[in-house]
Amino acid sequence: MSILKVSRLGHPVLRMQSQGVTKEALSSPAIQTLIDNMIETMIEYSGVGLAAPQVHYSLTIAVIESHGPRGDIPLTVLVNPDVTVLDEELLEDWEGCLSIPDLRGRVPRWGKLRVDGLDRHGNRLEFSAEGFAARVVQHEFDHLVGKVYLDRMRDYKTLTHVSEFQRYWLPEQAPSPSPSSQQADRQE
Ligand SMILES: [Zn+2]
Repeated sequence: MSILKVSRLGHPVLRMQSQGVTKEALSSPAIQTLIDNMIETMIEYSGVGLAAPQVHYSLTIAVIESHGPRGDIPLTVLVNPDVTVLDEELLEDWEGCLSIPDLRGRVPRWGKLRVDGLDRHGNRLEFSAEGFAARVVQHEFDHLVGKVYLDRMRDYKTLTHVSEFQRYWLPEQAPSPSPSSQQADRQE
């Protein structure tokens, strides 16, 4: 396995509609290795999610995983995901993105949704997600349709660099990073 180079805002791949993956392609060693490398890359950069365009592949594949106070999400590989909104209430919270280094901003997201797609073995995947998990899914789903979290912000008054985020915006002004601040600092 290897750690992949992460695409940054401005690279056209982040603004493209990704291509769906056939079951045949999904079972190929090339795609299975890509998924392994995406997982390793997400872990290496302390992400809670990573979408294929973020590693320069315009394919509808994303991986998510989180363990912490904002919510536990088991390692999940999403292939060709589709999202159905179950609760139209929009909740605002902080997001960051591995493709937009050193920035954080508050982003409104649907509170609850259903996800349909395939797992890495081509089996049907169906689950509902709410709160932080729903946020991460929406962030990654957006990458697959060429959007980034900046597109979803209502305004940019909360857009902040990480050091200023930790200094001025974190609810707990702990002298050393608390578990919640580390979690809030995770990016997608
Ligand atoms: Zn992102």
